[in-house]
Amino acid sequence: MLEDLGAAGLCCTPSFALLLAERAEGRDIRLRYGCFGAEPWSEAMRELLEAVWGIDACDCYGLSEVMGPGVAAECREGKGALHVFDDHFLPEIVDPETGEATDGPGELVLTTLTKEALPLLRYRTGDVTQFVDDACPCGRTHRRIARFSGRVDDMLIVRGVNVFPSEIEEVVLEHPALGGQYAIVLDRRTALTNLEVRCELLERIEPEPVERDVRRLLEERLRVRTDVYALPPGTIPRQETGKARRVFERLDERDPLNSP
Ligand SMILES: [Zn+2]
Repeated sequence: MLEDLGAAGLCCTPSFALLLAERAEGRDIRLRYGCFGAEPWSEAMRELLEAVWGIDACDCYGLSEVMGPGVAAECREGKGALHVFDDHFLPEIVDPETGEATDGPGELVLTTLTKEALPLLRYRTGDVTQFVDDACPCGRTHRRIARFSGRVDDMLIVRGVNVFPSEIEEVVLEHPALGGQYAIVLDRRTALTNLEVRCELLERIEPEPVERDVRRLLEERLRVRTDVYALPPGTIPRQETGKARRVFERLDERDPLNSP
């Protein structure tokens, strides 16, 4: 349909945009921009999407409880933070434990100012961000928030260390030998949870040096030991619909990626 309709823009989840890029190879599709949201994505994912599609890739944010997409969005000029449309939504950021306002990263709380029939007062979104106070080069004065680092309930606790899946994504996507697909497996078969990261090589090369390298980068970043598997291209199951599922739990001998 992108080809038939001569689409100029694409709005979907970043993981779906990556899947579409694989399928679009060799077709005459000339996008100019992309607006991606509904799951957290890293700067490395942006670079990848901008390169594979030849576009500006901007982040957009919304939640179905409020109205769906359109609560906040990045502009092309000021990528890295999202303008909240604060003429319609009043943003606050609170410490998720205490509910008190915080200057640092915390949970985004929204109050709808113009919504009728189903207004929301101080709705706790579960999404983690922080205010960005510098002026945006585009000149818009809507208050900005940082790109989301995850959900309050997405945060993984591995051996007592807080880990956001987005941190793992960044390391995987920045690695020149790896493609964009990855999966995180929390192996809970023993008392101490084991963190396993599976990623895909861009080409069929010797995986071991890449695995060693990614393991070192992840350990520096997360401060927790990880097992890394760099698999041949196309090995990790692709998800055709919905938000990409990246985190799996392993409780028994069955591999969670290949069992329903
Ligand atoms: Zn701007």
